[in-house]
This record gives sequence, structure tokens and C-alpha cells, in this order.
Amino acid sequence: MRIGTGYDSHVFEDGRRLVLGGVEIPDCPGLKAHSDGDVLAHAVIDALFGAAALGDIGGHFPDSSPQWKGADSMRLLRAAAAEVAAAGYSIGNVDATVVCERPRLAPYREDIRKSLADAMGIDVGRVSVKGKTNERMDDVGAGLGIAVHAAVLLD
Ligand code: MG
Repeated sequence: MRIGTGYDSHVFEDGRRLVLGGVEIPDCPGLKAHSDGDVLAHAVIDALFGAAALGDIGGHFPDSSPQWKGADSMRLLRAAAAEVAAAGYSIGNVDATVVCERPRLAPYREDIRKSLADAMGIDVGRVSVKGKTNERMDDVGAGLGIAVHAAVLLD
């Protein structure tokens, strides 16, 4: 078994749509990014690559590359899961914690779990997504953006 962790954070930017785990969330600004800014997908991708010791998201999908401008991060997640599978691993489970003052995650959590599970080709029972606030501490707590911690176990 191999364990990997991933972390990502992005700041809000007005005029963009917010996408978390491939699910569009209304009534909240989106995140500044070269890609679609799916901070949750990015953290999970880094946990996958980390568990397999295959580098990181920036090495596989450089944000200097026009190929990934505005990219659908779920496409990147599918590609990362395929690379991990090609290296001989299967995904045991994924656990992610989304830290933000807004939006409230609970109404979207099941859709997000299913979306992530579908992209990785695994059962939704292997994917956990949890929401937390930062109790108004630091920049995330001031509502400037969203941070995500993720852990992945590979068999
Ligand atoms: Mg990112």
C-alpha cells in the first residue's frame, strides 16, 4: 500500500464560475487560475501522483502550457488516475477536506463525491469529501479563497 497527500489553494476572482470536484456551485465567485481553478480536483491529483511517486500536477500539466489554459480539471484527474493505473496501482480510497468560509459544501457534497469517483473510475464509497471553515483565522478564514487537503491510498 502507498499513501499520498495533496494540497492546493486558490484565491477567489469575480466573474469566474466556481467548480469543485467537477461540480459547478452557484452564488459564489470562482477561483483565479490558469485552468478552471478546481482546487479540489488539483489536491486529489497531487495526492494520486504523490502516492505513486510520479511527481506533481505542475510537472504533468504545466500552467505555462496553452494546452491546459481553462482546462477542465476533471480531464486532468482522469489522466492522473490513468497514469497511476498504468504504474500498476489501484485506488483504495480518497479523503479530502475543503477549507473555506464560503460556499457551504453540504448541499453539493454527494454530487462532488460522485463526480470525483466517476473521474477516477472507482466506487463512490471510496471517496470522502469534508467541508470545514477556518474559524475566520488567516486569509482563508477571511474569505479570500479556498484551500484543500487530500489523502489517497493506493493498493
Ligand atoms: Mg491548483
